[in-house]
Amino acid sequence: MQKYRPHGIAVTDLSAQLWCEKQLEFSFEKGRVKTKEMQKGKERHTDLHEEIYVIIKVEPRTIEDFIAVRLNNCLVGLTTLLKGKMTRELPIYGKVNSLFVLGSIDELVLKNGKLLMLDTKTRGSNNMPSESQKRVTRFQLMLYKHLFDSIKDGKFNHNDLLAFYNLNEKSTITKDIQKQFLEMGDNIEPNINRLSQKVFSMIKGFPEISDNLQIRYESQITKKLIGSDEFQFNAELFKRDCDFVEEFWLEKRKAIPVGESNKWKCNYCEFKTFCSNNTKTLNLFSNKQILS
Ligand code: SF4
Repeated sequence: MQKYRPHGIAVTDLSAQLWCEKQLEFSFEKGRVKTKEMQKGKERHTDLHEEIYVIIKVEPRTIEDFIAVRLNNCLVGLTTLLKGKMTRELPIYGKVNSLFVLGSIDELVLKNGKLLMLDTKTRGSNNMPSESQKRVTRFQLMLYKHLFDSIKDGKFNHNDLLAFYNLNEKSTITKDIQKQFLEMGDNIEPNINRLSQKVFSMIKGFPEISDNLQIRYESQITKKLIGSDEFQFNAELFKRDCDFVEEFWLEKRKAIPVGESNKWKCNYCEFKTFCSNNTKTLNLFSNKQILS
């Protein structure tokens, strides 16, 4: 954690681990090549975000500024969810076992007293993804639900957030970022403790995210819906995957490459020339290979 993600592990790091943990490690060590598909996916998410928000760029100067901007975006998102019954790209913090994790929930909808979570993924082909790919995204959604519900249930509170970033009740944002907000006719609470308290207490006012989760797959070529993957939050599977991913971050073991049945993934991997995919390692961790 200290080496790769000192400011918090991304939800997408954890879900990518289920695809291939070794690949995730390579991406930290060597950096990822941004593909056209990734760029198109990002653009589609920006389009969806801009359907309900005007996105304005600000320049945070300190870690306090960064956290405050994320919290402020969360506050705006929750207010929109309450009034307009839906929001997109909602920043969220929390813990997965002992790991400090952050991410952005793709879409939340408030309907008939229920809070529904949806995610839109774009695909280069017109086919639904493989079961392995679905599994990665399903874990991603279950992680978001877990983070949101943990705040709601009080299992993760604003003091936990402050403690992780070594902040205290007096921590404030810079005058510069306050000025940037004022110049665009907006306001931001300068005290992180007060701001985080406000955000966390607002989350508590919402219902838990429904166990029925949904991923929509759209074609990047036709822009049409390919299909929808609807599934239930599975507490047993979720715990098993959380325990598995945690071990790597706590350095309880080295990163595991894919097993024999998943070696087809290596054909699409940008790191295949560097990866030895050691068979001894595979045998040693054969019981864990079901996960990748
Ligand atoms: S080559 Fe295969 S095992 Fe190695 S990092 Fe890539 S996907 Fe994982």
